[in-house]
Amino acid sequence: MTPVVSAQKLCKSFGPLEVLKGIDLEVHEREVLCLIGPSGSGKSTLLRCINHLEKVDAGRLYVDGVLVGYKQRGGKLHELRDKEIAAQRKDIGMVFQRFNLFPHMTALENVMEAPVQVRREPKARVRERASELLERVGLGDKADAYPGQLSGGQQQRVAIARALAMEPKLMLFDEPTSALDPELVGDVLGVMRQLAKDGMTMVVVTHEMQFAREVADKVLFMDGGVVVEDGPPEQVIGNPRHERTKTFLSRVL
Ligand code: ADP
Ligand code: MG
Repeated sequence: MTPVVSAQKLCKSFGPLEVLKGIDLEVHEREVLCLIGPSGSGKSTLLRCINHLEKVDAGRLYVDGVLVGYKQRGGKLHELRDKEIAAQRKDIGMVFQRFNLFPHMTALENVMEAPVQVRREPKARVRERASELLERVGLGDKADAYPGQLSGGQQQRVAIARALAMEPKLMLFDEPTSALDPELVGDVLGVMRQLAKDGMTMVVVTHEMQFAREVADKVLFMDGGVVVEDGPPEQVIGNPRHERTKTFLSRVL
């Protein structure tokens, strides 16, 4: 089966700074991949490449079997235009550390925004789906609340519902609980755990090792822009082979 994400020798630099130095990874349908590694190791950059927010310098990146950012014509690769890139991105949902909700819109309006504005779907239908999504993230009673009236954890769950409203095939999470007070982390992880159970394909950057252990099918440990080791969580987290992985885990566990 075609992997949902496939990276081969992916490289990305910012000027002279080599951030990704030949990353290989594969994520299959219904799989959860957790990316772990120290700050600055390139995890966010990798997610941003997958979501077309950064341009890859070398190597290949496929989402759903489609080469990201390029098309083949006459045996040559051509860079895509913005419109074509938008079309490639439409099946990817992303949740960031900061929730970035629209402050002047209610929770429900936040969730409805993209399907109505981007996809031009009829409002009534979107409203129904958005209400269901808010129920699903445990916020059925907060539909009319503004972001400022919600806790960080609640805002993050609205952000997850908002991403799901576009019916993505792939969900990317970049440290979704890092900005939350400790007592609010559990609810967000609970929603993500349920999403994984429901079969969503997910790539999750996280420092929550317990979550990674329980939910990930694969864990990939990155350091300095390379994959140091990857495998099932019981191997990478439970019984790491590399000194760098052991050192990292001893700091976060
Ligand atoms: P992580 O998410 O693992 O903490 P990042 O992917 O955010 O790592 O960053 C990896 C490295 O790339 C860091 O040294 C960071 O400063 C650098 N970097 C990230 N984005 C940019 C950018 N837009 N311009 C220049 N340097 C960047
Ligand atoms: Mg990061």
